[in-house]
Amino acid sequence: MIIDFHTHIFPDKLAGKVIPMLAERSGITPNSDGTFSDTCAKLAEWGFDGAVFLNIATAPRQQNTINNTAAEINNNKNYFAFGSVHPDAEDAVQELRRIKSMGIKGVKMHPEYQEFYLDEKRMLPIYEAAQDLGLIMIFHAGCDRGYPDICHAAPDKFLYIMKNFPRLKLVAAHFGGWSAWDMSDYFLIGKDIYLDTSMTVGYMDRERMKKMLLRHDPDKILLASDCPWGNPAEALDHIYRMDLPDDLTEKIIGKNALTLLCG
Ligand SMILES: [Zn+2]
Repeated sequence: MIIDFHTHIFPDKLAGKVIPMLAERSGITPNSDGTFSDTCAKLAEWGFDGAVFLNIATAPRQQNTINNTAAEINNNKNYFAFGSVHPDAEDAVQELRRIKSMGIKGVKMHPEYQEFYLDEKRMLPIYEAAQDLGLIMIFHAGCDRGYPDICHAAPDKFLYIMKNFPRLKLVAAHFGGWSAWDMSDYFLIGKDIYLDTSMTVGYMDRERMKKMLLRHDPDKILLASDCPWGNPAEALDHIYRMDLPDDLTEKIIGKNALTLLCG
């Protein structure tokens, strides 16, 4: 079973506008047209059995629609659309309960797009609710190409969440901190946190990443591409080329994801 834990899709009527705009802004050629059907077809071609689709509410008013759409996508076997809450939404905690009741497995938080620091007091009720509800919380981690001058999600900030919410199913995307690999290595490797491997191909030396992988909890590493911004086939090949022990490879490419999502 091969699962990509970090991908993005958009509603069909938006994808045609949003993808070219984001592509131009980031300078990245997208690997899908951003629709559900094209993304699933490409993933199947690349040998994937399923994926997690991550959504981000960039304003409080978007929560409802995003989460309703995610619930619909989840009728497709092995495809898991996550929900989203906005830190400024007065009903964020209530919305987390609704997310849970709709069978959605988790939420994506983006400290740059949603303008919050991981260790802000106003975030505590949101973390607490997610922990109590057993929802997975995945965060963009490290720098973001679109925001070169600021970093709301430095790897060390995750320690604050881990210390205060030890039962929270916490995932740091981009291997703990995009382009902040030294900090990720120092603060997060070997700790009780899931790391996804998105946006490491071409950005992180394979040998270095292998050394870090081998020092982390084998049950807490998740194959991910950030499709359409990363290529899932390349993300998978990146792991295969590390020549890791077979059981570890199996865990990284799908077993850990399935256990976290369905276990
Ligand atoms: Zn992403």
